[in-house]
Amino acid sequence: MNPEKNQILIIGAGLCGSLLALRLAQRGYSIILIEKRPDLRKTTLAAGRSINLAFSDRGIKAMKRAGIDEKVEKLCIPMNGRMIHDKESNTFLSPYSGKKDEYINSISRSGLNALLLDEAENMPNVSIEFNQNCLSVDFENATAIFEDFNTKNKSAFQGDVIFGTDGAGSAVRQNMEQIKESAFQVSQEFLNHGYKELSIPAAKNGTHQIYKNALHIWPRGENMVIALPNMDGSFTVTLFLSFHSGEYNFDNLKTPEKVREYFEKFYPDALKEMPTLAEDFFNNPTGELGTVKCFPWQINGKSLLMGDAAHAIVPFYGQGMNASFEDITVLDDILNKYKNDPKTPWEKIFSEYENIRKKDADAIADLALDNFHEMKEATADPVFQQKRKLETAFEQEFPDEYSSKYRLVTFQEEIPYSEAKKKGRAQDVAMLKLIAERKLSGNLSLKEKLEMVKKETELKLNEQ
Ligand code: FAD
Repeated sequence: MNPEKNQILIIGAGLCGSLLALRLAQRGYSIILIEKRPDLRKTTLAAGRSINLAFSDRGIKAMKRAGIDEKVEKLCIPMNGRMIHDKESNTFLSPYSGKKDEYINSISRSGLNALLLDEAENMPNVSIEFNQNCLSVDFENATAIFEDFNTKNKSAFQGDVIFGTDGAGSAVRQNMEQIKESAFQVSQEFLNHGYKELSIPAAKNGTHQIYKNALHIWPRGENMVIALPNMDGSFTVTLFLSFHSGEYNFDNLKTPEKVREYFEKFYPDALKEMPTLAEDFFNNPTGELGTVKCFPWQINGKSLLMGDAAHAIVPFYGQGMNASFEDITVLDDILNKYKNDPKTPWEKIFSEYENIRKKDADAIADLALDNFHEMKEATADPVFQQKRKLETAFEQEFPDEYSSKYRLVTFQEEIPYSEAKKKGRAQDVAMLKLIAERKLSGNLSLKEKLEMVKKETELKLNEQ
């Protein structure tokens, strides 16, 4: 892993690959970063690929590590909580945390990716190739074959190691699967729901038509709509809808009239702000939502999967990108640990990385599925709302003593996802039990309620 001698091939210049290129270049490695698509800074991005994303503390930590957090902050719109829109078009804001300085951000995917590419490209030891589709990987020789999108010519690129950051459908991962002796295991599970991106345009004067600093949610039991703000005053709206089941689904929303009927019935206040609903619905693709788990992530110290290529998750915790950035922080910590011993083999570094990271990647995958149900069903449920109010009050009054599951995952980047999952789930079960038994109402002080929750949580943790 001697930086002066190592040439590193990174396949996939999305969010994870471009930050990885920057960070490894800052450490002194020579980087070739290769991307299938054209340079997004020179072309317009195809519609339908999550235009904006929720960006939070684990991602911010990785940006600080690369020294670009202030530049990234300029792309961010703070979102302080979930703005819930009920069936009667009433709205209320449910804060993400009881602490005012804890919020998530809406960030443009292409804006962030472009900034990361600029920063990587500014390094003298990074070269970037676009329009090169990885076809196959020879792990033993750390060589990969690419096809040029325009000329269809094939070429080989070689490194000392290869990082596969080529996303959920990773070609590097597919090549790993074919190596029999690696005992490589992969599972892919898709939801029965898909997603479609729609939009709420800016007002004529360029301002936001609905409250800007929130992630808007229209929870409707089986399905839901969410909206995140953009810098230009618009919102990117995402409909999460079953493919086949229920009265309305992607299979039967086939005409503009039917789409309108569905929105009139379930999302009338959103519909008022969506003049291009039918156009967006029929022009934009319908995306699938899945979880990819695989292991091992390395082949003999010659190649490592990172980001979605190693652990794609459903988007309901707003953590897929943040987790991919956290991958880089974790690798960076391990490289720091061995920086005085440049002879440390990559295999050792990668094994340590896998040991630390796999359980956390699995945990956030599970938590993201939990949140799917919470967002589409529970956010509209009075018991859930009571729980959130109490959690917010605990966090406001006793920020050092209580953190909700959401706060553990989103704002406490020093806590690994696996611990956040364990503690957060136990707390949720404890609180819901105490609320159902009406033990948290009445004349108890907030401190007494907190002590009851803590005691019940301990019991639940001991039962695990
Ligand atoms: P990608 O961003 O997919 O990048 C992979 C790159 O590799 C791409 O540029 C691709 O073109 C390239 N590539 C692919 N194949 C090849 C090949 N054969 N050869 C060369 N290059 C190749 N995460 C959050 O944190 N917050 C959110 O709010 C959030 N919302 C989401 C909403 C939706 C609808 C979806 C689908 C995802 C969301 N995510 C969110 C997850 C987030 O998008 C991913 O976790 C993140 O993009 C992972 O980054 P990556 O670089 O690993 O993969």
